[in-house]
Amino acid sequence: MAKWVYAFGGGSAEGEKGDKNLLGGKGANLAEMARLGLPVPPGFTLTTEVCTAFYRNNREYPAELESQVEAALADLEKKVGKRFGDPENPLLVSVRSGARASMPGMMDTVLNLGLNDETAEGLAELSGDRRFALDSYRRFITMYSDVVLGVSHSTFEEILERFKEDRDYTLDTEIAAAEWEEIIAEYKAAVRKALGEPFPTDPRDQLWGAIGAVFSSWMNDRAITYRRMYDIPESWGTAVNVQAMVFGNMGETSATGVAFTRDPSTGEKGYYGEFLINAQGEDVVAGIRTPQCLTKVMREKMGDPQPSMEEAMPQVYAQLIDVFDRLERHYRDMQDIEFTVERGTLWMLQTRAGKRTARAALKIAVDMVADGLIGEEEAVLRVEPSALDQLLHPTIDESYERDVIAKGLPASPGAAAGKVVFDADEAEHMAKLGEKVILVRVETSPEDIHGMHAAQAIVTARGGMTSHAAVVARGMGRPCVSGAGEIKIDVAARTFTARGRKVHEGDMITVDGATGEVLAGEAKMIKPELTGDFASLMVWADRARRMKVRTNAETPLDVQTAKEFGAEGIGLCRTEHMFFDADRIAAVREMILAEDQSGRIKALSKILPMQRDDFAEIFRIMEDRPCTIRLLDPPLHEFLPHTDEDVKAVAEATGLPAAGLMERAKSLAETNPMLGHRGCRLGITYPEIYEMQARAIFEAQAIVEKETGFKPVAEVMIPLVAVAKELEILKVRIEAIARKVEKETGTAPVYLIGTMIELPRAALRAADIAAHAEFFSFGTNDLTQTTFGLSRDDAGKFLGDYLEAQIFEKDPFVSLDQEGVGDLIKIAVERGRGARENLKLGICGEHGGDPASIRFCEEAGLDYVSCSPYRVPIARLAAAQAALKKSA
Ligand code: PEP
Ligand code: MG
Repeated sequence: MAKWVYAFGGGSAEGEKGDKNLLGGKGANLAEMARLGLPVPPGFTLTTEVCTAFYRNNREYPAELESQVEAALADLEKKVGKRFGDPENPLLVSVRSGARASMPGMMDTVLNLGLNDETAEGLAELSGDRRFALDSYRRFITMYSDVVLGVSHSTFEEILERFKEDRDYTLDTEIAAAEWEEIIAEYKAAVRKALGEPFPTDPRDQLWGAIGAVFSSWMNDRAITYRRMYDIPESWGTAVNVQAMVFGNMGETSATGVAFTRDPSTGEKGYYGEFLINAQGEDVVAGIRTPQCLTKVMREKMGDPQPSMEEAMPQVYAQLIDVFDRLERHYRDMQDIEFTVERGTLWMLQTRAGKRTARAALKIAVDMVADGLIGEEEAVLRVEPSALDQLLHPTIDESYERDVIAKGLPASPGAAAGKVVFDADEAEHMAKLGEKVILVRVETSPEDIHGMHAAQAIVTARGGMTSHAAVVARGMGRPCVSGAGEIKIDVAARTFTARGRKVHEGDMITVDGATGEVLAGEAKMIKPELTGDFASLMVWADRARRMKVRTNAETPLDVQTAKEFGAEGIGLCRTEHMFFDADRIAAVREMILAEDQSGRIKALSKILPMQRDDFAEIFRIMEDRPCTIRLLDPPLHEFLPHTDEDVKAVAEATGLPAAGLMERAKSLAETNPMLGHRGCRLGITYPEIYEMQARAIFEAQAIVEKETGFKPVAEVMIPLVAVAKELEILKVRIEAIARKVEKETGTAPVYLIGTMIELPRAALRAADIAAHAEFFSFGTNDLTQTTFGLSRDDAGKFLGDYLEAQIFEKDPFVSLDQEGVGDLIKIAVERGRGARENLKLGICGEHGGDPASIRFCEEAGLDYVSCSPYRVPIARLAAAQAALKKSA
């Protein structure tokens, strides 16, 4: 019989160690903590397989589930010595989700389940604290109604607020037990009114209601958005954990808290967390009350007047940090922990690898290598390549005079400037229009994640370092200032005020996530330092990787930046970008509009020295690293004059009549330029263009070699080849130019001639093409376009719908379609290498900087990937991880 339910607690647990796939992250770690003998309230886990079966069977549970849950419940009752639904001695449980990958706040939780009028009395009796029992009961009604019955949280909040207002109370703690009874009666009436039936009183009905709600929450909008953002497959499903309740709200010796075993923002060693006395877990995360610091050091640093846990509960604190240390050593990673203290007794509710900023990930990985906890290769695998983006982001220039308008907590590092917006939809809307925005909210909730993603940075007026805003921003790599209490937001007026100043929606501000400051205006930023831990990790990554990493760059600035980031060559220099320069466009237009070859040659002779200078500059910077220079690619009409003025300028330069030039310009227009007269087709029909470019390359090599003694290495790349013959013809012409230049300069250029593989036919006929090519570089932008028959320029208009409908899992222009386009690449690799064993293989489409695509390139056996300069470190790390995972 299939096993759907696994028990844990009391020093042991069922199931395989660390089986997150089956038990979900939370369930697997609870089981693990139980096995370690840590104080874990006992409970049981309904596996992720229940979830997948549930969705497969039209939202019906497997037949054996009910009896297995009953058995687990009976076992749990025995362990804790209480009975579910027993008015004398009631067992209460929490019901929580727990997917394989953590999805904080995305799915539902119900606490204090099992309460009704009778069991609440029993709880009051048993605890000797009527107020506590009723507080738990009203929390349960609120949470259960919201999560399971669909009666909104605000219904209950309004009742409570009104009640407090009528009596002039400000705090919940002012409400007496008898008054809670009144409120509970009102709550129940509100549920009856909303649903037409009473709040469920049978604990078993409550339990199945909550289990159903958690499984259903796997498909709620927030969870779907989150999965899409973090590439979590829908097929994984979530587990459900049912666990005996322990109470942090049983008075002044009870508490609840969350902690990291190291600083999740900087990675510094030291315990880092918050707790609340006399509260339940939801209170900390919701950011409603301001929590107290865990440690004395932190309290002093923050200038917090409330005592830290270290001071307020020294014994439990000592026990807690002992648990922290054991967990870190056991998991060999920084942990994110939830705990509850019930009348002086410590209970562990959760542990998991803590989410962290890239900076912290780096520091923790490097520190753990130094401490001998992990090896260099494991450290390389610990840092998410795309998270490095955060470290490559700018910080505010020291010399910049800061105009601070508010200060909050430094919740997520990095700095960013943008226009103020007050809601997530607006943030997304403005970002789509190309605006940089800063999302300013009282606090954020999981409904805001799309806006947080669209924003450059996030500011909240409420909430601590572990508030939703802080946790999510760190995960996303967005700078964040949280809990900036000075900020008073007027949502209706779309303004905020702080320190007596008013800021309107659309005003520019800068957020410094490292100091917690919010500045007026746009601050001056500086480039990040890439030394220290970053450099150490990169050295280990470089040791681990097999593929080289090159860059796509053509301006000296980009080439220089890429070199500093560790680029080992240029994988794509798009020469047409050099044609667009203001001071040369006239000559380019003259060339295009020339009536005949001699006119073109005359114009090209003006462009030659400029191209030669460009190439020489690139060779100087790259020294002996290989530089792939691609000959002219785009359709000529892209360079055509737009205005009468442009035409006049060309007319003056050439002495040709403006009217004739206009005619010629019109005649060049194409219906479908992406599939038109571009790439090597230009080289075939206008040989003099490629000949000029080849000459500029070889002459530049001679100049730089004479000047520096280095031998620049050119890889001359022919774009958009479909047929081997195209390459054969062009290669002969280029080689002839090389020989001529060698004769003229006395220097033999070092060069290869190769092609881009960016058309399906080229991939399929790779063997014929390899007969003439010394290298292939996969132009996956065009290869994606032509494989899908999907226009690069127009797809953006409807790709969103395709992603929404899950026709595409990811934008195929961002992350390689490994099935279709990937198949063509594999075919080309096999056929190309079959024809020429030492064929050099690389990729230079946008995918060359995407970690998942880089992994594919490693598997396909490419020699290098090439990407934009800022992605070079990401690609180095991703290539290292790909190599390690392949050999693993
Ligand atoms: C490509 O098509 O992948 C490529 C790199 O060339 P471009 O983007 O310039 O067409
Ligand atoms: Mg291309």
